[in-house]
Amino acid sequence: MYSDEYYMRKCIALAKLAEQATDVPVGAIVVKKTTGEVIGEGYNRREAERSSLAHAELAAIAQASQKLGGWRLIDCELFVTLEPCAMCAGAIVNSRVERVVFGAFDHRFGACGSCFDLFSQGLNHKPEVVSGVLQEECSQLMKDFFRKMREEKKAARKG
Ligand SMILES: [Zn+2]
Repeated sequence: MYSDEYYMRKCIALAKLAEQATDVPVGAIVVKKTTGEVIGEGYNRREAERSSLAHAELAAIAQASQKLGGWRLIDCELFVTLEPCAMCAGAIVNSRVERVVFGAFDHRFGACGSCFDLFSQGLNHKPEVVSGVLQEECSQLMKDFFRKMREEKKAARKG
């Protein structure tokens, strides 16, 4: 079986695809625990699709459900470069993902401990959470992206 770091690197690679479309770089995958197979993947396409629903986790969950032929992601874990927001944490509960592994913390919108913890609110499903896997790389990805955006804005103003 592969390590959490191994799968997080796959998420980082996906996050970089988001960035190409000027979307905040967030990448996610769903892995079948017993086989180690990646059954869903996604990256943030909020700008590309002009939709607040186009988060990486939702795309990965949708693809995994399609692959498994049902909404219950039994025996599945979700990996994502950034702490899931309230919407995605809700989708994780609703799809019964067993384990969530994220990289960087999101102090503005994180719903897995940073702003609050959706999973400890007494809902009928409580996934296991592992945080801070390749944290440095995941947060550097975001920092680089926002710096580049600021520089481009500045250049545009000058030009
Ligand atoms: Zn989200």
